[in-house]
Amino acid sequence: PLQKVLVSACLLGQRVRYDGTDARKSWPDLGALERWQTEGRVVALCPELARGFSVPRPPAEIVGGTAAEVLDGEAEVAELGGNLVTASFIRGAQQALSLVQGLGVRGAVLKEGSPSCGVLRIYDGEFSGQTQGGRGVTAELLQRHGVQGFSEAQVADAEAWLTRLEG
Ligand code: SF4
Repeated sequence: PLQKVLVSACLLGQRVRYDGTDARKSWPDLGALERWQTEGRVVALCPELARGFSVPRPPAEIVGGTAAEVLDGEAEVAELGGNLVTASFIRGAQQALSLVQGLGVRGAVLKEGSPSCGVLRIYDGEFSGQTQGGRGVTAELLQRHGVQGFSEAQVADAEAWLTRLEG
C-alpha cells in the first residue's frame, strides 16, 4: 500500500517557524516533494503550532541534556530569555505521535536543527548559533515508537526507504 510521510509544515512552505519564515528552500530535491504531494503521501504538521505556540515566537533550544532526557523529565526546553516550554514541546511531540499512529504513518521528513523536528543536529542549548549532534523532542518520540525519521537533506534515503516498504 501507498505509504504516507509526515513532513514538517515549514518544509512545505507554511510560514510557521519561530521567525515567521518557512523552510521550503531547504529541500535539496524539490522534485521528490512534488511527487509525494501528487501521490497524496504528504501529511503536514508543525508540532509547535499544534500545541499553541504562535508565529512569531522566541527561539527555543533544548538545554541541559538531550531530547531523550527531555522526554524522561531530566532536561528542559527553554526559550531565549529563559522561559521554560518543556511541557508544550512534549505535548507537541505527543500530538505528532497520535497523528502518525492514527494514519499508520511509518516515516517522517523533519526539519533539521529544530528543537522539535531536528533529526541529526540541533542547537547546542547556549543560543550561540552552534549546532551539535542530537534530535528534537518530536523526532525523538517518533523514533522511540518506530517511526523512521529523515532530515530534509536525506530525501533520497527517504525515497529509497519508501520503495523498499512498498516492495
Ligand atoms: Fe518547522 Fe518543526 Fe519548527 Fe514547526 S516545529 S516550524 S514544523 S521545524
